[in-house]
Amino acid sequence: MRQIETIGRHYRQKYGQTVYKIPINLSGFTCPNIDGTVAKGGCSFCQNESFSPNLSSTDTAVKLSPNSDNPILKEQIAQLKAQYKSTKIRLNKKFKTQKYIIYLQSFTNTYAPLETIKTLCLEALRLDGVVGLSIGTRTDSISDEVLEFLVSINKTAEITLEYGVQSIYDETLQKINRGHDFANIQATIKKTKAMGLSVCAHLIFGLPGETKQMMQNSVRATIDMGIDSIKYHPLYVTKNTKLYLDYKAGRFTPISQKDYSDMIVYAISQHPANLITQRITAGVHDVVAPIWCADKHSSINSLRQVLSSHGMVY
Ligand code: SF4
Repeated sequence: MRQIETIGRHYRQKYGQTVYKIPINLSGFTCPNIDGTVAKGGCSFCQNESFSPNLSSTDTAVKLSPNSDNPILKEQIAQLKAQYKSTKIRLNKKFKTQKYIIYLQSFTNTYAPLETIKTLCLEALRLDGVVGLSIGTRTDSISDEVLEFLVSINKTAEITLEYGVQSIYDETLQKINRGHDFANIQATIKKTKAMGLSVCAHLIFGLPGETKQMMQNSVRATIDMGIDSIKYHPLYVTKNTKLYLDYKAGRFTPISQKDYSDMIVYAISQHPANLITQRITAGVHDVVAPIWCADKHSSINSLRQVLSSHGMVY
């Protein structure tokens, strides 16, 4: 049996204990694919204000961009500390955890003024028990200045850039209104890796019009970019998205659990030994379809069994 290099195993080996990622959602962040800079409406699967004006993605009218002012920086720092503290207390009580990675998860977390990014990252690294940062962003939204700053803090902390790749096919990226092409993904990942930063790629299986062959090609081409870790999830439909409208109109059919499992088995069988698997599915409470991915626990258990039957331990 081959043991898959999961993020949990990786951290336990590196730090001698379990390290938890704490997701943080700060007011003011948005995305150039939503605010009209790249496109409007966002990716077709993204729940955002374009489809739900009342979505509480931000509780402020302020929307940041690299050239904007930031009148809510103090508020953001307070949110960071409060969210970290409450999750940390809960995790510590339950699992006795002591080390954490701050995960800047929602929207595009490098799409803000440089000083904001610097301040928030430095504040996060000062929090007791934090050993690193995982920063979710787009490959078209990270400047050289931000990368240089991240290189400087990477000397004493574990810094990972999480980039949405989703697919290597431009036709698919257009269909989901991604707002950039695969050439942009390749160039940014190449640059990020050349600067010595860790890259986690996100891939989606079941994108509109994608065949098994296309998904397999995306897996191999993504691995070939020399990424350090990877997350997989099925394309799922939630309300307040363009994808929901397509699904309701019969224009989109979600991937089946069997096809998704087959893709996970294929993908992980392609991993080099040092590629870290961060996630193999998603659990979404308000999922409309496919309904099999609503329960993350049973979804992971089922994937575990399938992987095990192929000689891989997740
Ligand atoms: S890049 Fe992320 S935040 Fe931006 S529209 Fe797409 S899914 Fe939404």
